[in-house]
Amino acid sequence: MRGRVDFHRFEEEPMHRNPSFYCQACRMQVQLVHHGEHKYQQQDGASKDYVFGHCARCNRVGLVEYEHEADGAAAEPRQLWPSVLRPIDFELPPRVMEAYQETLRCEAAGAWMATAVMARRTLEVVVREFAPDHERFLDGLRALYTKGLISEELCRWGEELRFLGDVGVLPTDPKASHQDAKEALEFLGALLETLYHLREKFRRMQARRQRGRLGADAPERPS
Ligand SMILES: [Zn+2]
Repeated sequence: MRGRVDFHRFEEEPMHRNPSFYCQACRMQVQLVHHGEHKYQQQDGASKDYVFGHCARCNRVGLVEYEHEADGAAAEPRQLWPSVLRPIDFELPPRVMEAYQETLRCEAAGAWMATAVMARRTLEVVVREFAPDHERFLDGLRALYTKGLISEELCRWGEELRFLGDVGVLPTDPKASHQDAKEALEFLGALLETLYHLREKFRRMQARRQRGRLGADAPERPS
């Protein structure tokens, strides 16, 4: 039965048959028209597949990597060429922006340890903006929750990433994998969006509605 399920999955989800990439000329995620693949098998059982092709819209070249861990977990595509940083769609305070951009540059370079370390640093900068008394990001995160700035879910999500507090530069510190770095970035993105984008949007909407109500209460002009 198990074999059948695996076979079925293989049949329905060919990993590299429809890769996509972000085309900077088209400024959107586009289909990568497949030209060729190369598999690089590592000694530890992990492997990397490289898919080369071109943009289905404008013909520009693209290269995507799939990194397979030795445990057989599903591989996530990563765009190697043209190299891209995740877009930042909203304004951030300068110190936060600086740390976050460096985190994204580490990610684009595939440096997972550096990504995790910089993600933690960015988290520390963020929580200190809102909870200056807290040194560690987990303490700061709880303070943000207590102040009503983030949801309980977001707080618990951050607590799941407590390993980030231990990832460091000493040789004895735990290492961070691609998966660790990816999860840290997903959380960081959600936190930044909540604190600097969604709350701001909500405030603007409140102000608009407030103005609307005041306008409605005002006496009507005779026509
Ligand atoms: Zn294109």
